[in-house]
Amino acid sequence: MIVKIKKGANQADVNRLLEHLKGLGFDIHSSFGESYQVYGVVGNTAGFDIRSLYGHRCVDSVIRIQEPFKKVNRKIKSEDTIVDVNGIKIGGKEIIIMAGPCSVESYEQVDIIAKAVKEAGAKILRGGAFKPRTSPYAYQGMGIEGLKILHDVGSKYDMPIVSELMDKDYIDDFIKYVDIIQIGARNMQNFALLKELGKIDKPILLKRGFSNTIEEWLMSAEYIMAGGNEKVILCERGIRTFEPYTRNTLDISTVPIVKKVSHLPVIIDPSHAAGKWDLIESLSLASIAAGADGLIIEVHHEPEKAFSDGAQSLKPKKFHNLMNKARAVAAAVNKQL
Ligand code: PEP
Ligand code: MN
Repeated sequence: MIVKIKKGANQADVNRLLEHLKGLGFDIHSSFGESYQVYGVVGNTAGFDIRSLYGHRCVDSVIRIQEPFKKVNRKIKSEDTIVDVNGIKIGGKEIIIMAGPCSVESYEQVDIIAKAVKEAGAKILRGGAFKPRTSPYAYQGMGIEGLKILHDVGSKYDMPIVSELMDKDYIDDFIKYVDIIQIGARNMQNFALLKELGKIDKPILLKRGFSNTIEEWLMSAEYIMAGGNEKVILCERGIRTFEPYTRNTLDISTVPIVKKVSHLPVIIDPSHAAGKWDLIESLSLASIAAGADGLIIEVHHEPEKAFSDGAQSLKPKKFHNLMNKARAVAAAVNKQL
């Protein structure tokens, strides 16, 4: 619920109100406008009689938040959340590009790709060490060895690492080797995993499930935030529709919708949306124009030999060209890149 304080209210009264709410077990989020104070009150308010708060003379109004997501809700926190990843700020003025191979294949492969994407202007290195494959016979990833490679190459080029975690048993390894933990589309509603992520202090890149609504996606973010981890970055990666020309359909409307209803940063993965390398540039430029806070793009120096997702991977030169065009679009929407 949202509690609005009367203009010019006595601060001691406000403090008494806040103590009362905390005593009831609620979490309080504050936001100060030019002439008003508003508190977002989160917790199990279902059985709570909101009219009781009018007994506090500092209270101007109390309204329930209709949406099921609370901590994620912009009504609770009006200012944009900026997730700081080793000094790189996601959700601010600068558009942050994450790039790298779909799968980690070897130290040399990650090294070649990291060097190229860094030179082109990517800030964060992506790479999958644990791969969620539809077929059990497809390449499953290098596992911990792959995380170590990412970590070493990331340190060499001063790039933070984003990589996908599928199993809570590996959380400690990810805390050690990775800077952003990616939760893939297939695990968006793995609630046991989300609860564990709520307990740690690491940025989480939460992909939208390919058959999930925006509200379900935000509720998954709510799971992480409800546990205490507020460093959540949302990632739209395309949803499943009837359209076979693309692997998925990029739902670009998520960007303005998420920006309206939530304060969390939102980035776009055009690679898994398109499934085809020749669509990546258009979708990337459109995403930036729509107001995305960043992109995560698959790049491979030899896509024809890639262990996974070669068809949607850009070669370094194409990625470089995309970055140049992306800078122009970023400038047009008053962002930096
Ligand atoms: C990936 O990023 O490599 C990946 C498997 O993504 P998604 O979960 O979006 O399919
Ligand atoms: Mn991939």
